[in-house]
Amino acid sequence: MDCLFCKIVAGDIPSTKVYEDEKILAFKDIAPQAKVHVVIIPKEHILSCANDITPENCEIVGYIFSKIPEIAKLCGTEDGYRIVNNCGAKGAQSVFHIHFHLLGGEQLSGNMN
Ligand code: AMP
Repeated sequence: MDCLFCKIVAGDIPSTKVYEDEKILAFKDIAPQAKVHVVIIPKEHILSCANDITPENCEIVGYIFSKIPEIAKLCGTEDGYRIVNNCGAKGAQSVFHIHFHLLGGEQLSGNMN
């Protein structure tokens, strides 16, 4: 499958990892939009975007969210951060392997669009 994030999981494209376990990977975004900007993905390409989440496959999404506090702490932004999922082309999604952006490390603005 020609998927950028699958290539990062496989190690074919380098990344700066901040957290990894058997199910998920978190790495620094190559074009950071905040002092801390990490992308969190399931290792398995089971979903392309939030529109694909169903009761049958949502376990990994819950797992990612259960790990977010730990990842935020590893990044030194446990005192505040934002989680973003861009869904679909109109939502400015550019990589179609489901992922969540963790943004923080500074005072974020209230403007979310
Ligand atoms: P999205 O636009 O929501 O699909 O998010 C994709 C993110 O992946 C963007 O914020 C990109 O900057 C980021 N990105 C693209 N290529 C890489 C890469 N090789 N390493 C790390 N992040 C990347």
